[in-house]
Amino acid sequence: MPALHYQQQTLYLDDVALPSIAHQFTTPCFVYSKRTLLQAWQAYRDAFAGQDALICYAMKANSNLSLLKLLVDAGAGMDIVSGGELERALLAGCPPERIVFSGVGKTVTEMHRALEVGIHCFNVESSAELDRLSAVATRMGKTAAVSLRINPDVDAGTHPYISTGLKGNKFGIAHAEALATYRKAASLPGLQVVGIDCHIGSQLTELSPFIDALDRLLSLVDQLAAEGIVLQHVDMGGGIGICYDAETPPPVRDYAQAIAERLAGRGLKLVLEPGRAIVGNAGVLLTRVEFLKQGETKNFAIVDAAMNDLIRPALYEGWHQVLPVEQQEGLPERVYDVVGPVCESADFLAQDRTLAIRAGDLLAIGSAGAYGMAMSSNYNSRVRAAEILVDGDRVQLIRQRETLAQMLACEQACLPEAG
Ligand SMILES: *Cc1c(COP(=O)(O)O)cnc(C)c1O
Repeated sequence: MPALHYQQQTLYLDDVALPSIAHQFTTPCFVYSKRTLLQAWQAYRDAFAGQDALICYAMKANSNLSLLKLLVDAGAGMDIVSGGELERALLAGCPPERIVFSGVGKTVTEMHRALEVGIHCFNVESSAELDRLSAVATRMGKTAAVSLRINPDVDAGTHPYISTGLKGNKFGIAHAEALATYRKAASLPGLQVVGIDCHIGSQLTELSPFIDALDRLLSLVDQLAAEGIVLQHVDMGGGIGICYDAETPPPVRDYAQAIAERLAGRGLKLVLEPGRAIVGNAGVLLTRVEFLKQGETKNFAIVDAAMNDLIRPALYEGWHQVLPVEQQEGLPERVYDVVGPVCESADFLAQDRTLAIRAGDLLAIGSAGAYGMAMSSNYNSRVRAAEILVDGDRVQLIRQRETLAQMLACEQACLPEAG
């Protein structure tokens, strides 16, 4: 993570010493670098500056309102997957015409609200969804702009849980059914067919699957045009993978170049939905070692963050860097599993890491900006962590640590009166 560096053996995120954050806000907490976030955004914006592109940040990666507002102010659109995310986008000031709505299970209520505010496009994932959207739009006297998410059947070469473009997947419309589904969409009232989209998976570190998918979509675009169904945009879905460990993802400029070559002269607009690539390397999870424990075959560093704060290691075998916040000399190095207090064997943040640490030390878990806080839960009745934004040497709380009272409120409201 470029924003992390040691200064006299103390770990800094940009110009802020991480111990001062732990002191002020306690742990566990997520700490984000405003500079890194905006640099990642600008890398996408600049790479695609020469193309007619709408870049919609996939907010499911991290939907903190302050981060959304920074991105919206920098020109980002939003890719949303629920009515809740729609309200977040609107609260962050995102113009509705910069919002695309993805997801396999949109409800009538969600469709209604999105039509009411006038979003850019619905990314539709099934024939049944077309029927529902047509009915809702017709009832409201509106026209819904529609793109069909096609499953191009390319292997993204990523972890099976984040690979979404293969035949056995719940996502998208099968490539073989694409033409028939477009014909149906074009015939239904209340719909205007405007685009084609795909999202073949996340954390891809090669360009070739993206390019294969694009070629398959463009061949469909041509077949549709021959039938008089003329599309206005192609949406390539999520962004390029990031470096967690030693991955070497291609520069976004190369991706932009490859897309530009294929779209040249076609008059098609481009939509992109990067999430992880924008926010992943902008954040760390800051945690404190509660105990060191020697098991029979392993050493454990038991920390105050857990799988409820960062589930990627448990869910996807995600690998995160672990850095001691204060480097100490003279401590023995040992190999540790870094684990949380949750009652699950899958509750680990990292495995088999060589660390020189003591109980009470702070650790920074790297590249935790994407799919960290956004996937957090109250499992084991743990309150959700605080979120902090670093801007140069300034520090701003952007989400308070959840209180026990807040965590319990929805249930306490339902308790019968005593006596
Ligand atoms: C998750 C998702 C994204 C974002 O993927 P990243 O790999 O985080 O860039 C984009 N589009 C859709 C439809 C998604 O489901």
